[in-house]
Amino acid sequence: MDKRIWIIANWKSNKTISEALEWLNQVGPKLQKRENIQVIVCPTFSCLPELKKEIQTHAYPIFLGSQDLSPFDKGAYTGEEPAELLKELVNFSIVGHSERREKFGETDEIVAEKVKQTSSSGIESIFCIQGVKTPIPADVKIAAYEPVFAIGTGTPDTPENAQKVALEINSKNPEVNVLYGGSVTSVNCASFVQQQNIKGLLIGKASLDPEEFLKIIENCAKV
Ligand code: PEP
Repeated sequence: MDKRIWIIANWKSNKTISEALEWLNQVGPKLQKRENIQVIVCPTFSCLPELKKEIQTHAYPIFLGSQDLSPFDKGAYTGEEPAELLKELVNFSIVGHSERREKFGETDEIVAEKVKQTSSSGIESIFCIQGVKTPIPADVKIAAYEPVFAIGTGTPDTPENAQKVALEINSKNPEVNVLYGGSVTSVNCASFVQQQNIKGLLIGKASLDPEEFLKIIENCAKV
C-alpha cells in the first residue's frame, strides 16, 4: 500500500530508564529504515534524555515523543514540562489523551493551549480524540481516534467503524492524518491500517513488549 504508516508506542507510566534502554536495544537493531513506516516512542519524561542519546549513538530509525506537555510557557510553573524545553528531546508529543482528560481534568480548552505550545516550538502534536465530537485545533496534523471503551480493555473498535470515524474527520479536516488506538495487537493491527483513511496506530499495552511491538511493525509493513 502506498501510504506512510505511523506506529506510535505510548508506554504510559511504565519502564525504568534501564528497562527502557533494554527495550530500545532489542527493538532498534531489528528495525529496518523503511520509507513507509515511521516509528515513534513516547516514554516517561525521565527516560527521554537516555533514550535520545542511545538512538543517536546507534542511528536507530526511531523518533521520540512525550506523553504530555505543559499548556504554559517556561517560567514559574512548578512540575510542568514546557514545549520550549522539551523540544531539545522530542519531535512529537501526545496531547489530550483520554486518561489525562479523565484523571487530570484536562478540558478542550487546556488541550488547545497545549497544541499552541507544540506549534510554537516546532513539536508535532499527536492529538487524541475520543470520537467525531472532540474539537480538533487548527494546527493539528496527526489525530488519534481512541474510543474510551477500547483503551486497555482488550476490546478494540471494529476496523470498519474506525474507518467510518476517520472518513468523517477527514471530510472536515482533510489535512489530518487519522490514526487508530485502543487494544491494538500484532493480530489485529493490519486490519486497521488496511482501512483507507487510517494512517497508523497509537499503541499502549502491546508496545511495552519488544517482540510484540516488532511483530506489529512487521505486520503493518506488509499491508
Ligand atoms: C492508549 O492508551 O493510547 C492505548 C491505545 O492503550 P492500549 O493499546 O493499551 O489500549
